[in-house]
Amino acid sequence: MAGSCKTIAIYGGGIGGALLARRLSKDCNVTLIDPLDYFEVPMSVPRSLVDPEFAEPAMIPFAVALPNVTRVRARLVEWTANGGRIADADGLRSLVRADVSVLATGSRFSSSLMRSEGETMDERKAFYRRFHARLLAADRILIVGGGPIGIEVAGEISEAFPQKRVTVIEAGARILGGTSLRLSEHARGVLAARGVTIVTDERLADGAAPLHETLAPAGEALTNRGRSIRYDLLISCIGGRPNTDFMRSQFGHLLDSMGRIRVDGHLRVADEDRVFALGDITDLAENKMAWHIHGQVIVAESNIRAVLSGGAGPLKVYRPKTNVPTMVVTLGSREGVAHLPVLGLVTTPWVNRMAKSAHMLVPKFRKALGLVQG
Ligand SMILES: Cc1cc2nc3c(=O)[nH]c(=O)nc-3n(C[C@H](O)[C@H](O)[C@H](O)COP(=O)(O)OP(=O)(O)OC[C@H]3O[C@@H](n4cnc5c(N)ncnc54)[C@H](O)[C@@H]3O)c2cc1C
Repeated sequence: MAGSCKTIAIYGGGIGGALLARRLSKDCNVTLIDPLDYFEVPMSVPRSLVDPEFAEPAMIPFAVALPNVTRVRARLVEWTANGGRIADADGLRSLVRADVSVLATGSRFSSSLMRSEGETMDERKAFYRRFHARLLAADRILIVGGGPIGIEVAGEISEAFPQKRVTVIEAGARILGGTSLRLSEHARGVLAARGVTIVTDERLADGAAPLHETLAPAGEALTNRGRSIRYDLLISCIGGRPNTDFMRSQFGHLLDSMGRIRVDGHLRVADEDRVFALGDITDLAENKMAWHIHGQVIVAESNIRAVLSGGAGPLKVYRPKTNVPTMVVTLGSREGVAHLPVLGLVTTPWVNRMAKSAHMLVPKFRKALGLVQG
């Protein structure tokens, strides 16, 4: 039970923070600070947008997943030499001090479509129902961003609503630029066969569309090549910036040019013995994916325990998965395309269904957070 161990403050209860909190809270005093009161499986979001019922098992209250953790509903606004300055929804500020701190605040996107920024679980569920109503009424859908998230959203919509006119616009030379060309070409072929229009090497002109709004009214967006695209529903799938603004006032020198926190091989924030960071906010040279974070959690847990017990033994080293193109991209609930270790490119529908398309990894994360599969 908690009590024998010193205090650990974890900022951010996403994939990295929640899994670490659960492991450490078996015998340590853990406090989790997050503006949300629940964990949402990120992979479920593209499906929840077309099927609000799917969101039900994909959202788990922290109170259920992390019963032994002290939960504080607030946001880290400033990292200081004495700990984290946090602010709750009313702006009330306080300082959290702990023997060890862990920064795991993840990524933020152009809007709160992919990641809620402070809603309650019930408000998030209500949002999915409102979005679904807009989707039902829309004929022309414009998806901005042809990375994994935009392509998965295009896959969901084109499968569930084959009659709708879907366009994906991608600024890069090809969709899914972060993985292999063959994977990208397969996904493009499947979507094109469903009638999805894919525009690459072209971007929306600055200010051409309200990308910060989740339910913007119908409109017309102009691209940098002078093309005009009319839409009933605009879906922004761009962004993915690290949530590290809290470092800027006192520890900006620990951020790289992308705003990511420099960590050493032990996942400690550079120059800080008792501050760890993991997940999307780190400068580790690997794709920012949940797939890699499990390994980080194991190393961070071991090193935090070693630091707290004052052990003289060597700390564990995390080796980033540099240039590993592993990725599983769903194209609706029945198809997908994957680049897997050993197997390489996998286009077989049933393998992709098993790997992710059928369930969007919801049972895996429910199990990891101590809930029975379902
Ligand atoms: C739609 C979508 C689909 C994805 N699909 C896949 C996939 O199939 N496979 C894969 O491997 N990866 C996938 N990813 C990427 C994966 O989800 C991320 O790499 C992973 O969630 C990052 O984990 P994290 O712990 O760093 O941060 P997150 O999981 O993003 O969690 C961050 C947490 O920090 C909280 N927070 C934010 N700011 C603050 C603050 N200032 N103070 C306190 N708390 C804060 C947030 O509320 C959140 O709970 C997907 C991501 C998205 C959005």
